[in-house]
Amino acid sequence: MNKLSGWKAKFLSLAGRAVLIKSVMSTIPNHIMQGVALPTHICDKLDKVNRDFLWGSTTERRKLHLVGWNKIVKPKEDGGLGIQAAKAKNLALLAKLNWRLYQEKDALWTQVILKKYCSPSRVRARDPDALPSSPNWKAIKVGFPIFSSGICWCVGTGARTKVWLDRWLKGESLREIIQGPLSLRDNSLTMEELRDVGGWKWDLISFDLPDSIKNKIKALPLQEFGHREDSIMWKYTRDGDFSTNSAYLLSSENESTGVPFMGKWIWKIDILPKIIMFLWLCFHNSVPVKSILATRGINCDGKCPICRSHDESIVHLLRDCKLVHNYWRSIEVPPECVNTFTGSLEGWLQSNSVNSVLHRSGLLFVQSASELHPLDGALQQQQLGGVLVYSIDESLIFDPTDLDIDVTPEAVDAALNEDQQNRALILSLRLNEDSLIKKCIFAISPVDIPAVASSIPYRYL
Ligand SMILES: [Zn+2]
Repeated sequence: MNKLSGWKAKFLSLAGRAVLIKSVMSTIPNHIMQGVALPTHICDKLDKVNRDFLWGSTTERRKLHLVGWNKIVKPKEDGGLGIQAAKAKNLALLAKLNWRLYQEKDALWTQVILKKYCSPSRVRARDPDALPSSPNWKAIKVGFPIFSSGICWCVGTGARTKVWLDRWLKGESLREIIQGPLSLRDNSLTMEELRDVGGWKWDLISFDLPDSIKNKIKALPLQEFGHREDSIMWKYTRDGDFSTNSAYLLSSENESTGVPFMGKWIWKIDILPKIIMFLWLCFHNSVPVKSILATRGINCDGKCPICRSHDESIVHLLRDCKLVHNYWRSIEVPPECVNTFTGSLEGWLQSNSVNSVLHRSGLLFVQSASELHPLDGALQQQQLGGVLVYSIDESLIFDPTDLDIDVTPEAVDAALNEDQQNRALILSLRLNEDSLIKKCIFAISPVDIPAVASSIPYRYL
């Protein structure tokens, strides 16, 4: 756990921190998770370490977690970051252990486990679960439900496939389709016994099966039937082989909210990861603009500090504020994007980001803050510099989550002392304190304004 916190979170962007979590998570705890069922409180702790690191929280200082953890642990196409929750990942890896236990029947480890824990005397015990067992066997049992719901049987000789209990009917078991009490004979009936030369012994089944089910059974591919051993297949891959990712989805399914993520395209655009993360925050309505901060209990009035007439929402900040609107008018917006200026934020972002005309002209949102209002009103210019620095020009990007982190009057003074006037200015603007803003503006000589505007040291922001 110390490995993550050893990294200085503030020197990495949100995108960088997400990548680091994924690479650390997939190497350190995985080894243990493959063979042991971790207690829930340990999984929660692992998640917390990752969560805090992602948003830059430390023991000394808590940072705002902009997007909920339940959203982050979803796959990217469902609006998450592809970071995996520890508990679900543990279950997926234990399902894999079950898979290996079945597939590597001849391996020494499998034989030891089966002889020890699946011996006839143990199976016949009144309560096999109460007998002493190793952590590994306990882990196998914990992973079994996911394993069992993910496999289907491919019938060969039929000797190992139970007619009622195993999922051989296109991934379903007969028991799942038909309700009613089963006899002991039913429980042990195998496919080998049910099969007859050129047909089926329907009278061995104590229920009168509906024709639809009989037809399903008759439709089973018989070419390999009877020639090779019964085998299991993983239902969620084309080649029938186990995949940990699909097992993870299976084990985290309960937490799905079912709301489709409309921003799948953001993962496909060829652009800096920081901007992709910014778009991701926009899609979750989680950029720390004032109206959002206000709804999350942070003490601010929610009003736009530029026009003071509207709430500072994401769409207002990037597109609709009077001052920003003038900027959009001053550059030539391609005709195919004009309509999106009255539509939703999501549609507008998409047309800005994937439109080939804009890409050719080298413009994503704003090319450079210094182009906005050269030299007429340093305040407005810089204020937009703080707002619209999401550009394809790498020299002029900040990570909004980082900006949220270090905004204090002390940070402004520290920046001024370090001769970082532009950083100080943006910090003071976010604080919205007149005396601080004035102090910062006076610290910049007029000659330096364009240079300050175009050279924001983004790694500090
Ligand atoms: Zn405004």
